[in-house]
Formats: sequence, structure tokens, C-alpha cells
Amino acid sequence: MLLLSLFQLVTNVHLQDLSSSHIPLDCVCLIFSFHLSLISNRRLLSWSSSLALTQKTSKPGAPHNVRLYSIASTRYGDFFDGKTASLCVRRAVYYDPETGKEDPSKNGVCSNFLCDSKPGDKIQITGPSGKVMLLPENDPNVTHIMIATGTGVAPYRGYLRRMFMENLPNYKFGGLDWLFVGVANTDILLYDDEFNKYLKDHPDNFRFDKALSREQKNKKGGKMYVQDKIEEYSQRTNHVMT
Ligand SMILES: Cc1cc2nc3c(=O)[nH]c(=O)nc-3n(C[C@H](O)[C@H](O)[C@H](O)COP(=O)(O)OP(=O)(O)OC[C@H]3O[C@@H](n4cnc5c(N)ncnc54)[C@H](O)[C@@H]3O)c2cc1C
Repeated sequence: MLLLSLFQLVTNVHLQDLSSSHIPLDCVCLIFSFHLSLISNRRLLSWSSSLALTQKTSKPGAPHNVRLYSIASTRYGDFFDGKTASLCVRRAVYYDPETGKEDPSKNGVCSNFLCDSKPGDKIQITGPSGKVMLLPENDPNVTHIMIATGTGVAPYRGYLRRMFMENLPNYKFGGLDWLFVGVANTDILLYDDEFNKYLKDHPDNFRFDKALSREQKNKKGGKMYVQDKIEEYSQRTNHVMT
């Protein structure tokens, strides 16, 4: 479902502007503004689909391959005006396996380009791309189990804003959303403050469990990965899924 082919993004603003979001150093959350109000009118970027980002190549005239990034906002954008979309991008850094040192010549092209972009930079994107993953709205009272590692939480961030932040007259979430996230350390948890606020404000509708591989141990004494965390609650997760 390609709703729009190629369009220009004109502004990006780094997410420190959003008070409730904690962003680790190697990630950046970008809020793009669009010249045209295309989003709300055409259901473009409704919750989570991917944007494909293109960038000029070092070879003159030839574009880079597109890279896909999940949309971390809803159709209303972060400012509820339907004119922005957010991405959460992690910088791909290459470490030489022999020396253990960073080799910037092999760092990821697009993620570094995005992470180094400045407010006001113009960036070309196309999208949505691939299969569109939408939050089912026909029954707002069902249970959702969401599992993510790292920036994989981006699409769920959009869903959760829809469920718990936007307060729309035509959608009131009354089910249970259970989010499992896996990262190495507490300080690289994404959107942690935002999610903790949902937990505080909607304790009956939201569960939030974190697997911190370098800080927690699983029941066998090994590193705690997201699958170990899910296993801890397997009776409950199995129950809500049946
Ligand atoms: C559906 C989908 C959604 C996605 N959503 C997100 C998202 O929300 N956030 C996000 O951060 N990412 C997301 N991604 C991943 C994203 O698309 C990119 O793959 C990622 O950002 C890396 O792209 P890059 O251009 O920076 O790296 P590339 O330039 O494509 O390089 C890829 C990797 O190869 C390494 N490399 C480069 N040269 C060499 C070499 N000579 N030898 C060995 N290794 C080398 C780089 O260091 C890097 O780790 C998503 C992917 C998909 C498919």
C-alpha cells in the first residue's frame, strides 16, 4: 500500500525537546516536519509502518539504497498537528574484531547520517514501505503483547501514544497492553519516562517489563534477555494469549 511516493522532509528536531523522553547517546530520535499536510488527510503514517530513507551517495549521481526506519509516532505526530513523524535511530558503529577499536570508515551510512543531522536539514524519504503494521482498532479491549529490543520499540511507542496519550473521542483503549523490552543497560532504555508514565496513569491497562542483559541475571544465572523475561511470566502470558 504505497500512499505516497517521494516527498521531502524539511525539518528535524532532536527529541530532547520532548520532556518525557530519555534518549541514550548512540540513539537519536528525530521529529520530521512536512511542508504539506499530507499525513492526517491521507492516513499516511498511521501508526507503524516504515519510512525508507534515502541519501545522496559518495558516488556522484547514484543514490544510496534506501534504509527502512519504523515510525515512532501516530498519524497525529508528536505535536498532534498531523504534520510530523518521528523516527528513533541507533547509530551503527563498526568495531574492528581484531583491535576492538572503532573503524569509522565502516560505520553505517544512513544511521550516522541521520544521527549527525541538524535541525533544519533537508532529508529525502519515501514511504510507507513494505508491509504496514497497524494497531487493530476493531476491538479496543483486547490484550496486546509487544516484544522489542533496542530501537525495535519504535513502532510500539506510536501504538502506546495512541492508547494512552492521545485521548481521542473515537478510540478508548480498555484492554491490556504488555510491553517487554530488552536492552543491555538501564541507561539505554528508550522512551522509558514516557512508558513509566503510562504505567503510573494506567496500571490496569499497561504492563511494562524490562530485560537488562548486563544488569540482570536469568534464572539460570546467565544474562537476562527478553525471552528470559517473557519466560518468567509464561503462565500469565500463555493465559492472556488463550
Ligand atoms: C522494517 C525495518 C525497520 C527498521 N527500523 C529501524 C528503526 O526504527 N531504527 C533503527 O535504528 N534501525 C531500524 N532498522 C535498521 C535500518 O534500516 C538500517 O539497517 C540501520 O540503520 C543500518 O543502516 P546504515 O545505513 O547505518 O548501515 P549500512 O551502511 O547499511 O551498514 C550496515 C552494517 O554494516 C557495517 N559495515 C559497513 N561496512 C562494512 C565493512 N566493510 N565490513 C563489515 N561491516 C561493515 C556497518 O557498520 C553497519 O553495522 C529497520 C530495518 C527494517 C528492515
